[in-house]
Amino acid sequence: MMIDCHTHWHPEWSGADSRDPSLWLEVLDRHGITHAAVLPTRGMMDDTLLIQDNNDIASAADRSDGRMLPFCTVNLTQGKKAIDELERCLDVLKVRGIKFHPWMQGVSINHPLMNEVCARAASADVPILFHDGTPPMSLPSQVGLLARRHPKTTLVLGHCGLLEFWQEALMVLNGCPNVWGCLCSPHPGALRQIFQNGPQDRLCFGSDFGFGKADLLAYRLGLLRTALPDAGVQDRILNHNPRRLFRIDTETPAPAQK
Ligand SMILES: [Zn+2]
Repeated sequence: MMIDCHTHWHPEWSGADSRDPSLWLEVLDRHGITHAAVLPTRGMMDDTLLIQDNNDIASAADRSDGRMLPFCTVNLTQGKKAIDELERCLDVLKVRGIKFHPWMQGVSINHPLMNEVCARAASADVPILFHDGTPPMSLPSQVGLLARRHPKTTLVLGHCGLLEFWQEALMVLNGCPNVWGCLCSPHPGALRQIFQNGPQDRLCFGSDFGFGKADLLAYRLGLLRTALPDAGVQDRILNHNPRRLFRIDTETPAPAQK
């Protein structure tokens, strides 16, 4: 099993039927990725498409034979409407996680409703993945402060600080046992430092595949393999850790290792 913990859904990957995942899954197959966390794209960029995007991702995931782990998003500036949509996504769509892109969505990590979201995510036992690494609204330290206030909620740094804030991400990972790091975007030297000096059991891989047409899976798998060539380390980051993050072992037996 190889899991990509940071991909995006966009109808441009689906051909005539906007909920058909077959073309999208073909790209995963090309790279040996068996499962992927699938985050929204259009719903983060445009609030009027948010519900449709949440529905499309859940429908595509339903047709993926369990390979796509659907995430939803909500926009907290919508107040109660956002909480209602979150409840629907958790209870009806059975999403496996919640995604926030604070600067793109124009919502602070410290928005008052984020406390309610954290409590709900903890009770549903799903992680919240944040875009991080972009000031002023998406810094790892801001996620870290939220994590301190909600120690029972699992939060994921979706980019481990991107290129410029990976050291801050490393400090947050070491200071907050409920924060995971998705190795998606730091350069190879930073990836190595994060693994060597960070919590090795709370790191996973992400490619950002689906966000645009570039072959980000090839690129970011290449970075990971350059930075951390040890097969056992890669197995930990691509397989064992994310299976724990998504409780995959407790739901379906893992396929035999290749
Ligand atoms: Zn992304």
